[in-house]
Amino acid sequence: MLDRTEALVREVGGIGDELAILFVTAGATQHFAMVPQNFLGPGETADICHTGIWSGKAIEEAKRVGTVHVACDGKADNFASIPTEMSWSKQPRYVHYTSNETIYGTQWVAPPDAPAPLVCDASSDIFSRPLPLANHALIYAGAQKNLGPSGISLVIARKDFIETGSRALSPLAQYRTYAAERSMHNTPNTFGIWMIGEVCAWIKAQGGLAAMAERNARKAALLYDALDSSKIWKAHAKPGSRSNMNVTWRGPSKDVEDELIATAEARGMSGLRGHRSVGGMRASIYNAFPEEGVHRLVELLRELER
Ligand code: PMP
Repeated sequence: MLDRTEALVREVGGIGDELAILFVTAGATQHFAMVPQNFLGPGETADICHTGIWSGKAIEEAKRVGTVHVACDGKADNFASIPTEMSWSKQPRYVHYTSNETIYGTQWVAPPDAPAPLVCDASSDIFSRPLPLANHALIYAGAQKNLGPSGISLVIARKDFIETGSRALSPLAQYRTYAAERSMHNTPNTFGIWMIGEVCAWIKAQGGLAAMAERNARKAALLYDALDSSKIWKAHAKPGSRSNMNVTWRGPSKDVEDELIATAEARGMSGLRGHRSVGGMRASIYNAFPEEGVHRLVELLRELER
């Protein structure tokens, strides 16, 4: 089963032999700590791009381990855009970024042009578009958005980068162990691994990542167009930084927002309330979400505005 899932992940992602495919029985949060524990040694600095809640957690965890340099900070713009100006430290050990900000609804169009190997938290947009593997040392993703069930994460990492990690940690805290023992140092999450294989087979049947990207862009554009042409709804994320996975927006008042959410629920469209830290609305339109659902939401937005 593991062979099948790994082969499908490699095929769908276009992932070569220089990279290891690891299945870690933990969510993405585990990697906020594991990455610096493995790779941030004494005297070294990790550069982290701060684009929202999730990078904030990555920064917090890395600071427990070593020196962190915040290479850009979207806070002044209320995380409505991905900063374009970066300030790198002298010699970063690695550069960490969050390819899609799940809560604010922003997404990097292309990875940062960094002076060190990239580490990417791709939890909320993995396999939604072709993987940008160039310059990446390690990509991690909690599975629960586009890959499978919660509680398991996929890691795609350069074998030579893994080898540079600390040997002082317990075995399950070292990426090396997962690579050396094919994610079976202890009993893995077999259901999760099976499910990731099934989802990759489905992506392949849909036409692969290029087809997923096209479909996702089309779905998101429908929604952003509706928001941009409205007088009452306002998209949070700015053009050029908008996520194709999580579309966030506000209404003219809390009452109108509540009315939208209640009416949507009555019509079978649930989960539209924005994350408690930002309010408003959020439509999470991951790979599995049908285009028809976006059409129905757009209809409702227009109906309420009228
Ligand atoms: N990073 C990102 C970008 C996320 O969206 C999430 C979960 N929503 C996490 C990390 C944390 O994932 P987990 O709950 O699997 O630890």
